[in-house]
Amino acid sequence: MAVNVSVNSGNGKSGGAAASTATASTATAITGELPADAAFATRAIHAGYVPADNGRAAVPPIYASAAFDLGDASRGDALAAGELDGFEYSRVANPTVDALERRVAALEGGIGAVAVGSGMAAVTYALMCAGEGGGRIIAPSNLYGASVDALGDFLPQFGIHTDFVKNVNDLDEVASKIGPDTRAIFAETVANPSTELLDIEPLARLAHEHGVALIVDNTVPTPYLLRPIEFGADVVVHSTTKGITGHGNAIGGIVVSGGTFDWANGRFPQFTARQQVISDDRNGEWHSFAEKYGKAAFIKRIRIKYLRTFGAVASPFNAYLSLVGLETLPQRVSRQVESARRIAAHLTRTPHVVKVNYSGLGNTPQFDLVGKYFPNGVGQILSFLVDGSADNVRRIIDGTRLFSYVPNIGDARSLIVDPAHITHREVPAEARVAAGVTDNLIRLSIGLEDAADLIADLDQAIAAAY
Ligand SMILES: *Cc1c(COP(=O)(O)O)cnc(C)c1O
Repeated sequence: MAVNVSVNSGNGKSGGAAASTATASTATAITGELPADAAFATRAIHAGYVPADNGRAAVPPIYASAAFDLGDASRGDALAAGELDGFEYSRVANPTVDALERRVAALEGGIGAVAVGSGMAAVTYALMCAGEGGGRIIAPSNLYGASVDALGDFLPQFGIHTDFVKNVNDLDEVASKIGPDTRAIFAETVANPSTELLDIEPLARLAHEHGVALIVDNTVPTPYLLRPIEFGADVVVHSTTKGITGHGNAIGGIVVSGGTFDWANGRFPQFTARQQVISDDRNGEWHSFAEKYGKAAFIKRIRIKYLRTFGAVASPFNAYLSLVGLETLPQRVSRQVESARRIAAHLTRTPHVVKVNYSGLGNTPQFDLVGKYFPNGVGQILSFLVDGSADNVRRIIDGTRLFSYVPNIGDARSLIVDPAHITHREVPAEARVAAGVTDNLIRLSIGLEDAADLIADLDQAIAAAY
């Protein structure tokens, strides 16, 4: 049996310390038997899973087991000491979840990943892991509603504060907010729902000049359309609920580390302080995350402190659904992008539609960023503003027959929602407007139905609403 080069294990005192040197730090560790230069679509099907290690099952099995046999006493001791890779307890690591982590890390070009129970667990774990102990985050307000609430209203309760910027692509504005306690800049690569694009490369450069990390939420484009680590992002988070799983059937999230950031640069005391969970006081050995894990310190800390303590675990069943979904990610997203572009263009010519937000249209001020970062398109999310009253918006939503009225994105089904009342309802009015979420905004997530059918459905719903 090939060694399962796992980052993962530990339920006990040394929880997950089994990470060791074998941490997914080489291409083969993540991609299994794949050639290092395997293309994206090939990795989407094969990366991170080795049938020979799994009863030769062609499809990753669902390991519905809370815990794993430690073998004999000496193996148990080696596992717990982190000298051996393997699985102990599914709160910290599980073979099905492990395959998903390796596959997404391989697709994003990261050194490792930790899958969690939801996209919000991924967002909050990553932000807290960077900001913990009184740090500050810089972020725009055009974020997913629950992320705005976390940064503005909830994380301050834990001593982590956010300096909001109007335009995160304005380097002067961002630089003016960097202070001694700043730990990270956080933004969505394609904002939900405005589809505003992040200019990652100069922002990463600015952040790194100051020893600050760049953490991005790459949910909307998925790694098929954009791989932020290639442009300098340090940590990528996803709601796998959306395009990655792709069928609207499993809540999940994942944190991916690029492995290039120096967490021992002096801004992050939590990474250089000695920590009991990765130490061995029986033998008088004390370690910090930075000293023990080097470039993998961040992703190790997510697993060993955050997942192990806060416990928002990805279930093996959901991980399995995400793995199956990932197999068709390139094909699904490219078709959805093609349909989204057609629908966005059609809406610009549709009566009662006063504005279409879609960065892929070719008529936005951000078109240079599309060329630089999104050669395969900006995604399947678009939104539009209609004239008239809230009543007209309601009638459009109720009048569609093919679009499901669902507060989700990235599904195989096409979805419609009124963000001001649903996804961004709790966001304060000022931040809501800053995020482009006004009362007459309608968001679409384009699925895999025939584009002409979707256009006809929108046409009849809009015409009948006035
Ligand atoms: C949906 C979403 C989230 C939250 O993900 P959940 O899986 O619902 O917890 C975070 N960020 C973005 C951009 C999202 O679209």
